[in-house]
Amino acid sequence: MATVPDVVVYRVPLVTRFRGLTERDGVLLRGEAGWAEFAPFWDYDAAASAPWWRAAREAADVGWPEPVRAAVPVNVTVPAVDPERARAIVAGSGCTTAKVKVAEPGQQPADDEARVAAVRDALGPAGRIRVDANAAWDADAAVARIRALDRAAGGLEYVEQPCRTVDELVAVRRRVDVPIAADEAIRLAADPMAAVRAGACDVVVLKVAPLGGVRACLALAERVGLPVVVSSALETSVGLAAGLALAAALPELPYACGLATARLLAADVVAEPLLPVAGAIPVRRPAPDPDLLAAAAERAAAAGDDERWAPRIRAVQAAAEGRSEVEDR
Ligand SMILES: [Mg+2]
Repeated sequence: MATVPDVVVYRVPLVTRFRGLTERDGVLLRGEAGWAEFAPFWDYDAAASAPWWRAAREAADVGWPEPVRAAVPVNVTVPAVDPERARAIVAGSGCTTAKVKVAEPGQQPADDEARVAAVRDALGPAGRIRVDANAAWDADAAVARIRALDRAAGGLEYVEQPCRTVDELVAVRRRVDVPIAADEAIRLAADPMAAVRAGACDVVVLKVAPLGGVRACLALAERVGLPVVVSSALETSVGLAAGLALAAALPELPYACGLATARLLAADVVAEPLLPVAGAIPVRRPAPDPDLLAAAAERAAAAGDDERWAPRIRAVQAAAEGRSEVEDR
């Protein structure tokens, strides 16, 4: 078998445009404890990427706490696609909870309503539907959109990050009955507890990489005192394994998690991607397949990614070390 290097820049195609991307790129690194993924999106600067680096080092160097469950219930993620496609994605998923992306730039409110109605049709009355607006609305728009989507969906489980600011979330939460989940307000905030203290949310979304690792998320989950949902950052199955480890180690897990995103990749780096079986992902930690890793590395090399990631890693390492001095207080 060919020797696999300890640091590999990868690029893989996505099935559907997501977060404005048609391909995902990042770095896989191997340490004593196994393979880790470092893949902050390119709109994260060095300081914002530092927690992603700490999460990757935890995965590579230390590993994760023991799981308390053997499988993690997950939602199917429905990108901003047309109703036919949405129905097909949900029907083929085996999941009983769907997370539907809404408020996509260039689309109309009617597109979102048609999408959630199609998802309800595919899930049946017992299924759960949550929507994610990625902070797209102001407070008034959010109230109107949430009410309309709640009707179109025949009931929403929750709405994720309808507005950007904590103040807006607080205002919206007072005006609608649908529970509010905070995502960006947690992972992009200087103080992730600020949204919780302000009463901005009923549910907290935790993502391992932007929040600095599995242990950091377990500690945060304890502090927030609200139900938490573990979500991915559109990683390969190497990175998804960290989210799965967090979800598996949480004492309480009342909601399906957003970890079934390996489906959104047209190619993964492991032979058996972390996909759900009957709506739940069995807890495991797959290693990269040498051939798939080589293919993803070739794709990255052809795109010039190696030259972009090397300086970025140096900058992020410096930021991560600077940050850790502050946090060690
Ligand atoms: Mg979100």
